Amino acid sequence: MSIGQWARELGRWLPAAALAHAGRPAALFFHGVEPATRDGRVQTNHHEVAAFRAILRELTDFDILPLSAIDDVLAHPERHSRSLFLMSDDGYRNTLTVAADILDEFRMPWSLFVSTEHIGGNMPNPVFLARLFFFYAPAGRYDLPHLPTLRFESDKTRMKSALSGIRRLRFLPAEKAEQTLGAMVQSFAPGELASLIERFPSEKFLSWDEVRALSRRGVTIGAHAERHWPMHSAQSAAWLTRQAAGARARIEAEVGPCRFFAYPFGNTSDIGPLAWKAVRDAGYSHAFTTLSGSLSVGSNPFLLPRYGLRPRENHLASLVPLLSAGNGRLRAWQAALA
Ligand SMILES: [Zn+2]
Repeated sequence: MSIGQWARELGRWLPAAALAHAGRPAALFFHGVEPATRDGRVQTNHHEVAAFRAILRELTDFDILPLSAIDDVLAHPERHSRSLFLMSDDGYRNTLTVAADILDEFRMPWSLFVSTEHIGGNMPNPVFLARLFFFYAPAGRYDLPHLPTLRFESDKTRMKSALSGIRRLRFLPAEKAEQTLGAMVQSFAPGELASLIERFPSEKFLSWDEVRALSRRGVTIGAHAERHWPMHSAQSAAWLTRQAAGARARIEAEVGPCRFFAYPFGNTSDIGPLAWKAVRDAGYSHAFTTLSGSLSVGSNPFLLPRYGLRPRENHLASLVPLLSAGNGRLRAWQAALA
């Protein structure tokens, strides 16, 4: 059981009021927010509006702070037992068209971490592309580079292939993953993939004009690498440097100063020892993972914890104070990457 699962279980049984003073500051993140989703197998990153509103209602008793308060929060976590940071990853267009108004209504500041290569272009998130392949490519046998032979016969075989295939793909060096993804794209008839992508407007990224509009509304813009791909140990040092420094340079040119980073995927297997050093050397002041934990003294500021909000959260107010249960694991991992 992961720390997040454990805290969720315990949170069901403890009243929020009992934990009000036990808390530590934390960061929470989501991706996109959609009026409704049509295929949960490929639109895995989006909250539906009603569920998102329910989450924000659960957070109204907390102090939601702008990310500029991070230095004070890390220096004095004991003064911030009810402080939270709210973040969105990737840069989906629906953060502007849907989420921003809801967050304004709740008067909650938030930050947006964008993958700069995807902003303002037509390049979909690679995992979304892979999911389209696994669930929508014509039935048959596929021999793709760097993956075992795949056979799509039923929904069951597709689901099984998707789970193991995406896991394999994710741990490839970026150049090899690129070859596999290219072959996946080729498996569709001309024009078929483009019309399929059109059916999922949730996966559209913002344009730079739209990122600037969010920035003018008070949203802090951070970097989520150039390409939405993990920064693990199979990646070359040069590629990691480009992911960190290139994304910051692009945001600074398009929007303005950028000092915050969030790792794509962001779990222990997605971040190698060279990754956080590349982020540090690119001039960021703080970077966020997707490991559960609270924001406390002594953490490596380039490997800070964050809790990923699930599509529906039923006991969030009780769960948040329990996130510090993940700190031991986080600290051990930080030490291993030092
Ligand atoms: Zn992401």
